Amino acid sequence: MYSDHLQHFNQILNQHEILTDADITAPYCIDQRNRYHGEVFAVLLPNSVTAIQNIMRYCHQHQIPVTPQGGNTGLCGGATPHASINKQGIILSLSKLNRLRNLSYEDNTITVEAGMILANLQAAAREAGRYFPLSLASEGSCQIGGNIACNAGGLNVVRYGTTRDLVLGLEYVLATGELVSHLQPLHKNTSGYEMQQQIIGSEGTLAIITAATLKLFSPPLSILTAWVGIENIQTAIKLLQALKKHFGDRISSFELISAQALNLSASYSHLQIPTQAAWHILLELTDSMPDQNLTDPFISILEQGNWLNTIIAQSATERGHLWTLRENISEAQRHLGASIKHDIAVPIEQVADFVEHSQQQLTQAFPQAQTILFGHLGDGSLHYNVFIADVLNNDVYRYEDGINKIVYESVLNYHGTIAAEHGIGQLKNQWIPRIRTQAEINWMRMQKQVLDPHNILNAGKVLPPQP
Ligand SMILES: Cc1cc2nc3c(=O)[nH]c(=O)nc-3n(C[C@H](O)[C@H](O)[C@H](O)COP(=O)(O)OP(=O)(O)OC[C@H]3O[C@@H](n4cnc5c(N)ncnc54)[C@H](O)[C@@H]3O)c2cc1C
Repeated sequence: MYSDHLQHFNQILNQHEILTDADITAPYCIDQRNRYHGEVFAVLLPNSVTAIQNIMRYCHQHQIPVTPQGGNTGLCGGATPHASINKQGIILSLSKLNRLRNLSYEDNTITVEAGMILANLQAAAREAGRYFPLSLASEGSCQIGGNIACNAGGLNVVRYGTTRDLVLGLEYVLATGELVSHLQPLHKNTSGYEMQQQIIGSEGTLAIITAATLKLFSPPLSILTAWVGIENIQTAIKLLQALKKHFGDRISSFELISAQALNLSASYSHLQIPTQAAWHILLELTDSMPDQNLTDPFISILEQGNWLNTIIAQSATERGHLWTLRENISEAQRHLGASIKHDIAVPIEQVADFVEHSQQQLTQAFPQAQTILFGHLGDGSLHYNVFIADVLNNDVYRYEDGINKIVYESVLNYHGTIAAEHGIGQLKNQWIPRIRTQAEINWMRMQKQVLDPHNILNAGKVLPPQP
């Protein structure tokens, strides 16, 4: 049966765009954390939108499950075929659809194909004298299509918003093969229901994103990067408040790092710890005008609040050193072993209480649990990762339900979300009924039914399992 399908794909694609050898397809079938393993009969790597339309038309007709895949850096198993699919489906990799289509100086926009790696998109903007602010530690591998599919957050949300805020136009192929293309660089468009907004963040369950028109900004020409050691999260929030009052949207990053997370990253990165404290803030103030004096008002705020355990980067090397410590936390954790990860957000005013409450509950129930906590405090989102000493392999997942129950119940208690920026994938879809009302779930199922009646696009992801 697969041979019929492969024969058809051979008519649409070049031979090197069809992978079937198990050794070659294996890395596409395992997620970033080595948590999920799927199986497919082929990985397809089309390099044109027409080829994607033809593939989808055929898959729709023959009810072949399709798992869209970008850089495969997602942390919720979204790009790994669901186990229920067995070998009956394909992975549709976007990596060869990666061209720059247009850059408009007048509209300050860039139009790129979905498979462009985020770091390459940032570089293209830079070469044009502009700035694309989406920035994640995975930017050397993740793709803009994957970022849009997950509505990625990252380091600059406090100033520029999430990926959704950066998308002006979208091009996508529906499960039936139909193309929807709105790539005009329009800054305003209020013409009825906005389908594009549903595709953003739908994690490959509603459409294959093929291209996007994105906002560009003036590059930050004055930059102040600082590392502040603080005694507790409440104090960090006071610092954020004081900075917001004076600097407003010139705060582009405000990252919280626990001492445990810092120690882990420093020893992995072979870098010195900048300040001794229980908690740390890495923050950045930027201005698009050159030679702006950000330092004097910043120091004056530090003095007023007695936040004096602070280092201000004096060179690009020092700035790089501070950011490496932050960005290597994920890799350092991976090096340490498996953990139970949570990507959560609560209102900023509740973060300190949430952390204290969930830590207490967790320590009571799991005395051997160690939490590595860090994240984007500027927008209220945190990475809350729990290690169990002596269980640093995948056996740790036997504690997952118990630990999730404590962390997620606490998040919900503090009016937060269990999915701040990584999405739902196949990791958290059983929690959807706790964060969405029945009316919302019905609406999601209706959208799915209309756009993908055979449920071929990323089956088993996002929507809660059917009772
Ligand atoms: C070290 C590290 C740091 C990270 N830091 C952050 C962070 O700060 N903020 C953050 O938000 N995330 C972060 N992530 C998670 C991840 O990098 C993001 O979710 C990213 O947006 C995923 O992009 P990708 O191209 O790798 O997508 P993939 O992992 O390939 O796919 C993710 C989901 O999108 C779907 N998809 C991919 N491409 C398309 C497409 N073209 N059309 C339709 N659906 C598609 C997939 O089916 C899947 O459901 C981090 C990951 C790592 C490993």
